[in-house]
Amino acid sequence: MKKPDKFPKQNQPQPGKQNQMQPEPEVIRENYRGSNKLKNKIALITGGDSGIGRSVAVHFAREGADIAIVYLSEDEDANKTKKMIVKEGQQCLLIKGDLKEEDFCKEAIDKCKDQFGGLNVLVNNAAMQFPKDSLKEIDGNQLRKTFETNIYPYFFITKAALEYLNDGDSIINTSSVTAYRGSEHLLDYSSTKGAIVSFTRSLSQTLAKKNIRVNGVAPGPIWTPLIPATFDDVSDFGQDTPLGRAGQPSELGPAYVFLACEDSSYITGQFIHINGGEMISG
Ligand code: NAD
Ligand code: MG
Repeated sequence: MKKPDKFPKQNQPQPGKQNQMQPEPEVIRENYRGSNKLKNKIALITGGDSGIGRSVAVHFAREGADIAIVYLSEDEDANKTKKMIVKEGQQCLLIKGDLKEEDFCKEAIDKCKDQFGGLNVLVNNAAMQFPKDSLKEIDGNQLRKTFETNIYPYFFITKAALEYLNDGDSIINTSSVTAYRGSEHLLDYSSTKGAIVSFTRSLSQTLAKKNIRVNGVAPGPIWTPLIPATFDDVSDFGQDTPLGRAGQPSELGPAYVFLACEDSSYITGQFIHINGGEMISG
């Protein structure tokens, strides 16, 4: 029988909280070999300081891309990611700020352009979640914050990025398995993740004639700072998937590489489901 979702914390999450991140998430497999799939490309990754975004950043760097990372407040995490990128022989620009602000989204894209001369891959990935037991507990402030954090910036930053994206470039959006199967304790969060799926499909149609591809990844339970920061008990996190464990960020990065590079040249408007084997439709 399927286990219920995790018991939610009553407190607000603390993004970037690392003290319960044991064991440390795996960012990239030691034996992952880059083959210049993103050579001379420039990528901007929101929420690239930690978790899935950090893994994407390091994979892209190993494939030859320079990276701009947008993050909210976690300087230590962001600097650690930067070091990993530099170790791969690539450049990294850290951009700190709040994606809820449209002006900041535009500023972030402009900074990337000023530093690197352009943009080829936009990865929309930043998000927050505030688990609650029932709809009654989701007040207006939480609802606004969840939508303003998880979906508004997709419109703001993508609009700014389109100034620079060209034929062959791509956009990758991070949704969630909760968009497809729902989640008892994440009513507002899962709604934003569903919006991301629809946004991806619609935008892919808008941009197809320019040959700018728009795809996404829908992760299942992945071991990142978001998880111990928002759930009380993480002891059986991911155990109810067919593969019987949580995924590592290192198992996500390669899918983003695939969607970013020419290998996926005939794919747009689609999602890759990296969720330990849960069957979902769509
Ligand atoms: P994470 O906490 O490591 O990364 C999220 C990052 O988003 C944070 O580091 C933070 O800097 C950034 N962020 C949040 N609000 C922001 C704001 N207002 N402005 C700028 N930056 C902001 O967590 P993660 O698990 O790697 O999450 C990455 C993505 O994966 C999210 O979209 C999340 O919804 C999705 N996801 C995660 C899981 C999972 O189990 N970890 C499952 C499904 C989907
Ligand atoms: Mg973080």
